[in-house]
Amino acid sequence: MANRDELSCQEFVELVTEYLEGTLSPAERARFQAHIEDCDACTIYLEQIRQTIRALGHLSEERIAPSARDRLLAEFRDWKRGMGSAPPI
Ligand SMILES: [Zn+2]
Repeated sequence: MANRDELSCQEFVELVTEYLEGTLSPAERARFQAHIEDCDACTIYLEQIRQTIRALGHLSEERIAPSARDRLLAEFRDWKRGMGSAPPI
């Protein structure tokens, strides 16, 4: 982890719905966007959420079940451990 102003991937996932709904504060939004620039896994995650929204026509919190989020975060960890290979998604 770099400096403490940076979001963790866990925080990113927790904030992603608020980001897409436009309810983050400007400061949170800036941290969120800084994380995307540094983190390919979260960039992919965000894109997947956007595709889900496009498919459904709206964002539904139930569609991003906690179990799915946990699995995704586990995949992030595995991916980072084996950095250099393609993302598992
Ligand atoms: Zn991340």
